[in-house]
Amino acid sequence: MHPQLQKLVALQDIEAMISEAKEQSSELEGMGFNLDGLASLQEKADSLAGEIEKRHLGYYRRLHKRFGHAVVPVVDNLCTGCFANIPASFVSATNENLLQNCESCGRILYWP
Ligand SMILES: [Zn+2]
Repeated sequence: MHPQLQKLVALQDIEAMISEAKEQSSELEGMGFNLDGLASLQEKADSLAGEIEKRHLGYYRRLHKRFGHAVVPVVDNLCTGCFANIPASFVSATNENLLQNCESCGRILYWP
């Protein structure tokens, strides 16, 4: 996988964990959970974001705002964001030095 893409996928995972934890934070605190882990997750997300090229990160942020999930896996040649068909020729191109977007919805694609 493209290293930038790998970082985007990791960033998306961490940010999803952070927003979930934030949503439940008052509840978790009430149950006696220690929320220090949240700060270190945020630190990790920040440092990952710093390693991603600005143009990729900017695009990711825009998609994230619009769809929630900005980076989606391709399963059975389908974009799992919008279920458009993804041409097989996209796969080989992704292994080179660029990111692929779904032609239909624009989400960033990866092949798990
Ligand atoms: Zn799509």
